[in-house]
Amino acid sequence: MTVNELEVLRNKVDEINLQILRLLNERAVVVKAIGQQKNLQGTKRFDPVRERQALDMIAANNEGPFETSTLQHIFKTIFQASLELQEDDNRKALLVSRKKKQENTIVDVKGELLGNGTQTFVMGPCAVESYEQVRVVAQAMKEQGLKLMRGGAFKPRTSPYDFQGLGIEGLKILRQVADEFDLAIISEILNPNDIEMSLEYVDVIQIGARNSQNFDLLREAGKVNKPVLLKRGLAGTIEEFINSAEYIISQGNDQIILCERGIRTYEKATRNTLDISAVPILKKETHLPVVVDVTHSTGRKDLLLPTAKAALAIGADAVMAEVHPDPAVALSDAAQQMNIPEFHKFMAEVKGFRDALAGAQLVR
Ligand code: PEP
Ligand code: MN
Repeated sequence: MTVNELEVLRNKVDEINLQILRLLNERAVVVKAIGQQKNLQGTKRFDPVRERQALDMIAANNEGPFETSTLQHIFKTIFQASLELQEDDNRKALLVSRKKKQENTIVDVKGELLGNGTQTFVMGPCAVESYEQVRVVAQAMKEQGLKLMRGGAFKPRTSPYDFQGLGIEGLKILRQVADEFDLAIISEILNPNDIEMSLEYVDVIQIGARNSQNFDLLREAGKVNKPVLLKRGLAGTIEEFINSAEYIISQGNDQIILCERGIRTYEKATRNTLDISAVPILKKETHLPVVVDVTHSTGRKDLLLPTAKAALAIGADAVMAEVHPDPAVALSDAAQQMNIPEFHKFMAEVKGFRDALAGAQLVR
């Protein structure tokens, strides 16, 4: 073969490559249209029966010289890439995604900013039990210069016979104490029908882990002009978590705070397993602020400080923990709430750690 002949053959291959390239992209356009149709119909993108038919068609029509198995392998790679193309499209479309909005969403809770690069704290009792109980915690928070107070009035309890919270009475107590100390209130709402009523009392609507996929509740919270603190589901994946936030934002409310609170795993040493890497993943994938609840994730007082430090070091916008004047007699989560002296000690250490990080510009 002369040099010239080789050149001709190579040119031919180049030409065929370009044809394949054009055909692959032509195919990709059709595949994307199929993906959109499937989305509209709510059907799954991967269809194994359809893929089997396509592979059989290749086998039936293969005249060589390639082995059928080789060709099927190549085509499977093309199918897989097409599927990823469809999924990528879907992710791009999410309103909570960084791809949709580059800059951080900053949630303003009565002047306290979440998502602006400073790191703050959400503290308060597990449940509202009395005016006096909430007042003692509020006083301690005020001494620490904190603004964001949590406290459950509607408690989602595992047993129907356990304390279910004071309901509206609890919200009234929270509001009264908050106004007295100029604090902002974060409280869980369980029922979509209570969202409207809660606006009068709370500054942030909390949607709890057990309701992370209560789509009616998410949609209702998406319709109001009030920040929402959304917790990750008990065994929720990050993708499910992000989609839950999407339910809220899709209704118009973009003031969403994501809260990692641990997930259920086989590990029994802690109440849940704190998924610390969820923080940078959520910060990367979405534009929303991320809070780490060290109380419900660990369920252990001895782990509150180290996990809070880890949360701050990894870039959480805030840390949440529970405080009770007398945890031993608390009506819920008695074992894991800090008492007031423990709270002050915790705050001193964790604030020192935060300020050191900020000073060294280690976070962001
Ligand atoms: C809470 O924060 O009061 C609570 C019930 O937590 P979770 O929904 O994460 O279990
Ligand atoms: Mn609790």
